[in-house]
Amino acid sequence: MTQHSAYTSDVIIVGAGPTGLALAGELALAGVDCRILERREEVSNLTRAFAVHARTLELLDARGLAEDVIRRGVRLEQVQGLPGATLDLSQLDSKYPMLLIAPQSATEAVLEASDEKRGVVIERGAEVIGLEQSPSTVQLTIADRDGQRTETARYVVACDGAHSRVRELLGVGFTGKQYETHIILADVQLSGPAARWRAPDGAHHPARGA
Ligand SMILES: Cc1cc2nc3c(=O)[nH]c(=O)nc-3n(C[C@H](O)[C@H](O)[C@H](O)COP(=O)(O)OP(=O)(O)OC[C@H]3O[C@@H](n4cnc5c(N)ncnc54)[C@H](O)[C@@H]3O)c2cc1C
Repeated sequence: MTQHSAYTSDVIIVGAGPTGLALAGELALAGVDCRILERREEVSNLTRAFAVHARTLELLDARGLAEDVIRRGVRLEQVQGLPGATLDLSQLDSKYPMLLIAPQSATEAVLEASDEKRGVVIERGAEVIGLEQSPSTVQLTIADRDGQRTETARYVVACDGAHSRVRELLGVGFTGKQYETHIILADVQLSGPAARWRAPDGAHHPARGA
């Protein structure tokens, strides 16, 4: 059953991944009224974007958040992207001359805590399934545990990931092309100490704690 549409905020952000959480923090800091809708019921515990680069840490540092993320990760000063090609990141002209290996869920937890301090509301279990635009507003159809409802905002920002439903609803194409490489990332519990694993093509995959 679709309930009545409610005007909830100036900006509705769809997706509480790192992009949506970072955007909400910036908007709140600028005094913009915004909230986040996230389809997951629970806070994510997934590793996904585990390589946090120096520039990202610099940007987090600008908001006083870098040390919190660093505390939750492992520092790497050298990486071997290809056989025989070792990058010495300790030479980087940065406050953070390293690659930080930290689960995406850790970065999200830090951003979320900061957003909450700034008064951002994150509604979980709210999946955007429909969108209609008028010249001055956007109306979203949202599925949640109580059924369906609509909400209206001045702006909606699609931060709902690579397979964005909002992009699909808007009919916006995915331009460019995908990498031809396939990556498999699994969150598993190891029975023994972590080790480094080298794929047959020579790519090097440092495991956390290795
Ligand atoms: C295997 C793998 C490894 C990766 N490794 C790295 C890495 O090492 N370093 C790095 O920087 N990046 C890495 N990435 C890329 C990284 O995961 C993405 O760049 C990052 O997740 C993008 O963040 P985001 O917030 O835009 O989207 P996402 O993290 O995908 O977040 C989107 C959010 O939107 C929510 N959502 C989706 N649809 C809806 C809807 N209809 N309504 C409401 N909510 C919705 C989702 O539940 C999700 O929480 C990797 C990606 C993969 C797949």
